[in-house]
Amino acid sequence: MFEALHVACGVLVYGIPEFRLPKAIVAKEIETLKALGVEIRTNYVVGKTISVDELMNEEGFEAVFIGSGAGLPRFMGIEGENLKGVYSANEFLTRINLMKAYRDDSKTPIFHAKKVAVCGGGNVAMDAARSALRLGAEEVYIVYRRGESELPARAEEVEHAKEEGVIFKLLTNPTKILKGENGFVGGMECVEMTLGEPDASGRRRPVVKEGSEFVLDVDCVIMAIGTSPNPLIKSTTAGLDTEKWGGIIADENGLTSRANVYAGGDAVTGAATVILAMGAGKTAAAAIDEQLSK
Ligand SMILES: Cc1cc2nc3c(=O)[nH]c(=O)nc-3n(C[C@H](O)[C@H](O)[C@H](O)COP(=O)(O)OP(=O)(O)OC[C@H]3O[C@@H](n4cnc5c(N)ncnc54)[C@H](O)[C@@H]3O)c2cc1C
Repeated sequence: MFEALHVACGVLVYGIPEFRLPKAIVAKEIETLKALGVEIRTNYVVGKTISVDELMNEEGFEAVFIGSGAGLPRFMGIEGENLKGVYSANEFLTRINLMKAYRDDSKTPIFHAKKVAVCGGGNVAMDAARSALRLGAEEVYIVYRRGESELPARAEEVEHAKEEGVIFKLLTNPTKILKGENGFVGGMECVEMTLGEPDASGRRRPVVKEGSEFVLDVDCVIMAIGTSPNPLIKSTTAGLDTEKWGGIIADENGLTSRANVYAGGDAVTGAATVILAMGAGKTAAAAIDEQLSK
């Protein structure tokens, strides 16, 4: 297993917070894998440290499974996203979960904000908001452009966030992040929204309410509006077909357009669930076993 980071296990270690998935459980799973004979090589960025072709042609691997996830964060493209105190949810959660930025002696510290806006309404947004509260923020807002019934997060996650004091600014859309002192965030300009007719996604389309501009008083903004697969492996593996949005194209066994190269999990489906990713890994493993046993 070739892992880009210094710890294996993907979102389970760097994304999902300790209060939802204790890292000791994940560590036990890794130990089980190692006991089965899996060798884990960390700090290996496939596509940079070594390519898929080098793995197969020079290192002697007969098959490759790509499970590189969908860790490339999206931003809104609004003014002020480069200010200090603006994070992608991925960066924010990775700094906390993997790099232990909450510790005073952390080498990769995090800005301890007082008022935090999390843009987005999915499970990742809920995790970022609840983590911000645990870091000591006094006010944490979920800023989401549709209403409560359209929130993509599971109802349970929303309920827990509310119980812990996260404030929901629904039907609200950020338009600009304002510059405060020393290049830090000094607030976030927003507009109120109403819901119009259903759009292509089947959900009612948010429409800006005329004259509803207001400034949300925050010193940190976390973007949790989705992620997509990182293009590195695709761009360094000739003949590996991908969808327009970056997902690797694979058949029901995980086989890609390249012989003996398989893929599964978020890298194929886009951001989905742990159980689907694990299922894809097992399906591909069986297919690889069959293929190599021929
Ligand atoms: C904050 C958050 C909360 C979530 N909560 C839940 C939840 O409660 N329940 C649920 O079912 N799902 C949840 N998910 C989704 C779930 O975590 C993912 O669907 C799942 O982890 C996908 O697994 P994967 O193996 O495909 O990718 P990942 O878990 O993303 O793992 C990919 C791994 O590949 C590595 N990698 C990437 N590129 C390279 C490269 N070029 N070379 C080498 N290594 C590389 C990455 O560092 C990473 O370790 C959550 C996601 C996030 C972000």
